[in-house]
Order: sequence, then C-alpha cells, then structure tokens
Amino acid sequence: MKIEKVEILQKAVPFRRPFVIAGGETTLCEHAIIRIITDDGTIGLGEAATMQSYSDETHTGVEAVLKEKLIPAIIGLDPFEINAIMELLDKTVEGNSYAKAAIDLALHDVIGKITNQPVYQMLGGKCRDTVPLAWAIGIGDIDEVASEAVEYVQKGYKTIKIKIGNDPGRDIDAVKEVRSAIGDEIKLRVDANQGYDYDTAIETLPKMEKYNLELIEQPLPREDIDGMAKLCEKLETPIMADESMFGIKDAIELIKRKATDIINIKIMKPCGLRGSRAVADIARAAGVPCLVGSMPEMGVGSAAGLHFAIAMPNINYACEMIGPEMLVDDTIHPAPFFKHCENGYLELPTGVGLGVSLKE
Ligand SMILES: [Mg+2]
Repeated sequence: MKIEKVEILQKAVPFRRPFVIAGGETTLCEHAIIRIITDDGTIGLGEAATMQSYSDETHTGVEAVLKEKLIPAIIGLDPFEINAIMELLDKTVEGNSYAKAAIDLALHDVIGKITNQPVYQMLGGKCRDTVPLAWAIGIGDIDEVASEAVEYVQKGYKTIKIKIGNDPGRDIDAVKEVRSAIGDEIKLRVDANQGYDYDTAIETLPKMEKYNLELIEQPLPREDIDGMAKLCEKLETPIMADESMFGIKDAIELIKRKATDIINIKIMKPCGLRGSRAVADIARAAGVPCLVGSMPEMGVGSAAGLHFAIAMPNINYACEMIGPEMLVDDTIHPAPFFKHCENGYLELPTGVGLGVSLKE
C-alpha cells in the first residue's frame, strides 16, 4: 500500500462568540484540512488547527510547508509505517508540529479504515465510554462571563474554565463572580495563557484560591520553568502547563524540574497522536495526570482528540474538545458522538478510523 496523493483544503470557520485570551482576540479559525489518498482509494482526514493568538504557525504557513516539504517526502510511502514517516518528517523540516499533526491524524484515519477499527482501538482500546468536557470562556465583561458560565452549567457542563491574564484585579473579581454564579458543586479552572510574570502570579493567584479552583493553567511565560516550579511548590491548587509543553522533550523537562502538576496535551503540539501518546506515557510514568485540550480544532481534529482521550489511562480531568460547540463548523457530516458537546460530554466514537467524513 502506498500514499498516492495528499490534498489540502483551507477552511475558515467563525467562532459563535469572539474568543479573547491574554494573547488577543480571535473571531475566525482558519484551519487546513488534509486528505491523504492511498493507491487503493482509501481517504484519511487530518487537520492543522492554528489559532493566531496561540499558535506560531498560520494556516497559510501550514499549507506552504506541506506543499513544499512534507507532502513530497511521504508520497509513495506505506501509510502503515507511521513511526518511520513521522521521524522522516522531523528530519525533513524542523518544528511545524501542526502541519505534521495533520499528516499523523490522516495516517491514523487511513489505517483505521483499512483495518476496520476505530482509532481509539489502535491506541490501545478504550479506558472510558464518555469524556466529560470543560466549557472555556474568554476574557470579557465579568457579568457576561458569569452568565455564559451559568448558561453552560444549565446545559450540563460540570467544569467551567475562564480565561484570565490581562488584569489581575479584574481576574480576581471574575473568579469571585463566576464562583458565586455557578455555586460550589461545579469545578472552576483558570487559564492565564502566560499573562502574568512570577511576582504578579504569586501576588494574585492565592487570592483566587479561596474560591476553590480546580487548577491554574499556564500562569507564566512558556520559558519560565523555574517560576512554574516555584508556583507548584507554593500554591495549593495544581498548576497545569499548556504553552510550556509542546513536545516530548518539554514534558520530560517539566517533570524533571517539578514545574507542572498536570499536563495539557493538545494533539497539535506534539505532532499528532503518536507524539501525544508519548507525552501521556511519560506523564503516566511520572504519575502526572493529563487532560486533552483544544486549539480549538474543528470536527476532524476534535474527533482525534476524543479518540485519544477515550484511550489514554491517565486523562483524569475534564477535557476541552469543544470546537464542535464553539465554532460554526460545516466541514463534516454530523457525527453522533459530538451530539452532547453542548451538554458537557462526548460519547464513544462510532465508525472506523476517526469516524468523521467531509461534506463535499
Ligand atoms: Mg491553555
């Protein structure tokens, strides 16, 4: 079996509401969907999800590196040889993990379709039948943040994440207001997207902890590993690395330096499912729990995140594959396992491969 052709489809999908994080506002997700076509006509789908307030890759950059470097490197290769292909991609071009992730996802989809099994089966089988979700709310007017939190709690969400990081005083008020709006039973997490420096974080975060936070995500700049380690030691609430953990070497470094209590695995960051599995395994060996985050991906990438979250034993927190609810995404046919995305959970994927198909 050989990879015969790879097609790239650019797709822009709007957010239902503009999404503001410490890095800026996003109204539109411009992602690249790819189709790997094998010589027997099997089609595998992949996605590179690039959110410009977060990612160092753009959708046009993804297209360029795929066309010029990555696709020419894999034409004619056997799609079953994922390990060799992903190693070859790393030798072909540095970095570009989102573009590489698109290929990894599409290869998993191809293999699942040919061997007639869902991707979670290829990853070791299911550890759970449903995946609980956290609803993420951008930075904004505190009343609006609180009312969106209540709206999603009423729909069924048991975990709410609010974005912070631009204004410590406002952030403390936001945590207080949201906690009072959603009550004590709902889990509340915060994500500063690198917005604080260490002094601000150690001054601000303890004032939030009295509102019972589930976790604090990426309070400091990604390279401030010493600062993250100090916060892990000094704060009671678990700290979760997101931007500090892109690849498997970052996971090893963070764990060695005790600079994270939880790891946020977004499947785009370590070049797709193969790399994500390595990160989850490193974390598991160190006794570090993980969750699956989101860029947010559209349907193809969200399905891949779901398969991963179903299969990995140490995904112990509510995950964030909420792209199907956050985005106005018309690229795939409705997949039954996304049905309860608005109610706070996803179900076991059905079908073979990733279990999603593109609308033409
Ligand atoms: Mg984050």
